[in-house]
Amino acid sequence: MNLINIRLWNQDAIDKTYWDLANKSDKLWIRWIHSFYIKTQQFLIAPIPKQASWMVKKILNARLTLEQIQKQNDQVTIGSLYLSLLGNRPRVPWRCLIFVNSARPKTIVTMWLQLQNKLPSSDRLASWGMDINQQCKLCQNGLETRDHLFVCCEFTRAIWRKLMAWIKWPDYTLDAWDTHLKWIMEKVRGNNLTVQLFKLMYAECSHAVWIERNH
Ligand SMILES: [Zn+2]
Repeated sequence: MNLINIRLWNQDAIDKTYWDLANKSDKLWIRWIHSFYIKTQQFLIAPIPKQASWMVKKILNARLTLEQIQKQNDQVTIGSLYLSLLGNRPRVPWRCLIFVNSARPKTIVTMWLQLQNKLPSSDRLASWGMDINQQCKLCQNGLETRDHLFVCCEFTRAIWRKLMAWIKWPDYTLDAWDTHLKWIMEKVRGNNLTVQLFKLMYAECSHAVWIERNH
């Protein structure tokens, strides 16, 4: 999952709606579709009405996709359906940071771009032909790359030292992206409260560093 596939994600949203329909989720408009289009017929075999809107048709067509996904839990989220639809595609090791993270959505998007090295840091802008000062604006001490901004920069390290002291975890002493990533993966093992807090902190910290860099 190096880029969220928007078509697949939209398909997921449709599939989730279908799932709610199949399980008669107690939402007003889903009850309306049930009474208007489906009535007493079994949902899996109900014909698709010719007069149905394109949206209802798309939702009913999602039966084909969802029949391939075994029902493991009563609760189906768009995220879990998305992962099922991704199938056997190579999975990035940091995917657990993206899902089940209670940080604000915009901070998760920043973190997601950061993890893939897709943020427009100065080195990337220069590689696209822009004539810019590539020095780090936060510490004035090093070229601004993803690895510098989020791992080596003294500004970022100072934030992490305080955050780690706050949750009483060992100090932050890393100096390369690979070891930084390994460090993250070690920290997000399990699902206890401190792990959840760390995931939230990581997204919020990445976002805060990026916003500060853009000031
Ligand atoms: Zn710096």
